[in-house]
Amino acid sequence: MKILVINTGSSSLKFRLFRYNDLKLLAKGLVERIGGKSQIFKISWNDKVKEMEVKAEDHKAAFKLVIDELMSDEYGLIKNISEIKGVGHRVVHGAEKFAHTVLIDNEVIEILKECIPLAPLHNPANLAGIYAAKAIIGDVPNVGVFDTAFHQTLDEKAFLYALPYEYYEKMRIRRYGFHGTSHKFVSLRVYELLNQKPEGIRMITCHLGNGASLAAIKDGISVDTSMGMTPLEGVVMGTRSGDFDPAIILFIMRQTGLSVDEVDKVLNKKSGLLGLSGISNDIRDVEAAADKGNERAKLAIDVYCYRIKKYIGAYAAAMEGLTDLVFTAGLGENDPLVREKSCKGLEFLGIKLDPDKNDKPGSERLISADDSRVRVWIIPTDEELMIARETKEVIGNLKKVPS
Ligand code: ADP
Repeated sequence: MKILVINTGSSSLKFRLFRYNDLKLLAKGLVERIGGKSQIFKISWNDKVKEMEVKAEDHKAAFKLVIDELMSDEYGLIKNISEIKGVGHRVVHGAEKFAHTVLIDNEVIEILKECIPLAPLHNPANLAGIYAAKAIIGDVPNVGVFDTAFHQTLDEKAFLYALPYEYYEKMRIRRYGFHGTSHKFVSLRVYELLNQKPEGIRMITCHLGNGASLAAIKDGISVDTSMGMTPLEGVVMGTRSGDFDPAIILFIMRQTGLSVDEVDKVLNKKSGLLGLSGISNDIRDVEAAADKGNERAKLAIDVYCYRIKKYIGAYAAAMEGLTDLVFTAGLGENDPLVREKSCKGLEFLGIKLDPDKNDKPGSERLISADDSRVRVWIIPTDEELMIARETKEVIGNLKKVPS
């Protein structure tokens, strides 16, 4: 028996196949360039990889292709489609409707449609993945795991913006937060490593990938997070600005005559590390340029880390204490310089890194000094495994438990 996890973007469909019993990863891959002239299919399984050009004009065709490939004798992964006991879907925006993972039925689909204005790029692609799974594997349970769900515990004082209150009442303008599946996964892993219940743990999780967000997690509950109504707010990201004075948007539009869509593109695609450095959205390129003396590259790294540091301070204050600080995702797991600069000077909060542990390559570990009051961790994230776990849980709770 297997669980299939699907993550659809506007032009891609990523998948992972897990064994049902122990959630061992059996295969992973993607179809990319959906909507383009031709598509690329990639799969890795049993230490083998394969890549080929394919034709899959939309998400449904891409999903069918994935299923056909998974059932091909070449991989020895699935013989019969009935072996797939459930499909877990990553869904970006569940707004205020979903505080937990849910079994996707027609009512859920209707609510997801209502959420489209809040995530116009992501939710339609997620829905396309759900429709495709329903069309191609019939009545297998489809489970929705929401990026926003983990942060539905935020208190009003943390999620409300100081705008006219009716904007919240009428348009649901508020902080939702994202990367919830990742923040939850790494926090659960810390409790497991500590062999401790969440009560009494005041944790800040820093998910630093291409998109980036921090979460303040007190007693196992997300009490604040840096992304907002959309994934644009908060810390500096690869190409997204993060926080800035909203009046700048009006200023730019008046000064340059840029349209709403053009400004949207500047803030989401041309800002962040890329915009500041003028080099790349990838910190590795920016650091390489900084090493060669490029001043803007140095500045971009400074701004990036300073913003994280400010959020760490803010969240320690919000939780009235701090016991654990976690770094995860592409930069969080792999970039010692970012971790060092983001923690520098925070000894007064009890954060003291061990430079050797921080610098040394490797995966899951503690990187704080032995006398640091706050434990500082690197915890590799695995959002797909988290989705598989939650999918299995939902399936397990259905009346007819799979054999
Ligand atoms: P996504 O948000 O797309 O899932 P990831 O979590 O994979 O992204 O993070 C991708 C980013 O992580 C890259 O753009 C790069 O800046 C950074 N990154 C990846 N690998 C490394 C590395 N070995 N050293 C430093 N930074 C890295």
